[in-house]
Amino acid sequence: MVEFVERHPRLFVLTGAGCSTDSGIPDYRDTDGEWKRRPPVTFQQFVGHERARKRYWARSLVGFRHLRHARPNDAHHSLASLERRGRIVQLVTQNVDGLHQAAGSQNVIDLHGRIDTVRCLNSEQRSFREQLQLELARRNPNFASFDAVEAPDGDADLDDVAFETFEVPACDACGGLLKPDVVFFGEGVPAERVQRAMAAIESCDAMLVVGSSLMVYSGYRFVAAAAAAGTPIAAINLGRTRADDLLTLKVSDRCANALLRVLTSRRPTPSAL
Ligand SMILES: [Zn+2]
Repeated sequence: MVEFVERHPRLFVLTGAGCSTDSGIPDYRDTDGEWKRRPPVTFQQFVGHERARKRYWARSLVGFRHLRHARPNDAHHSLASLERRGRIVQLVTQNVDGLHQAAGSQNVIDLHGRIDTVRCLNSEQRSFREQLQLELARRNPNFASFDAVEAPDGDADLDDVAFETFEVPACDACGGLLKPDVVFFGEGVPAERVQRAMAAIESCDAMLVVGSSLMVYSGYRFVAAAAAAGTPIAAINLGRTRADDLLTLKVSDRCANALLRVLTSRRPTPSAL
């Protein structure tokens, strides 16, 4: 991996849940790429059923409490450091936790949006999740004290609670449906984000996948595009990825370990920060 990074000065980096597990945010999938827990709510369920929305927000009220205290780990810090050294042309993340930015990365495409932002599906008004969190807790004091296992998108496992009584506020401005500003299953990634990422692939020397099983097409498509263009691809991931047969190099290790080795064994250069 050290040699791969040294040989390719301009990297396109794609990160996934494995990058954030050392920050205490659990992964969705096991090492065979299978679901570890019930698959998350789909866009169609969320928009179509009030009960699904109540259930989502009740679980999320609990899950978000853990998520907002998460801090970047050595994987995020290492990637921020590589960017400062001018080594990363673009970082694209499938994570919604904002931890790359918290570590200091500047040039980040949040492919699946951000969990700290809420969007009105009617007026497109965006607001801070932190504000909604307070309102959800105020309206649902019984739920605010529940604890549960947290999931990667701020959702949580709260299965035996009756959700009918849960109160979900509407948009302040227009009364529309509020949704976390993250891409749900069954929902497309905004085309503009995909186009920007695809454009960056054309100007990179190599692609580095960090902590993703690439089971979801939204991330896999970038690897497929790079492979079609003959761009070398390396991946750091515990367990199998959907793109194993497209990889030039595969390192099965924790993201933080592998990236720290890359950073510490790089020959110091005058421009290194
Ligand atoms: Zn609205």
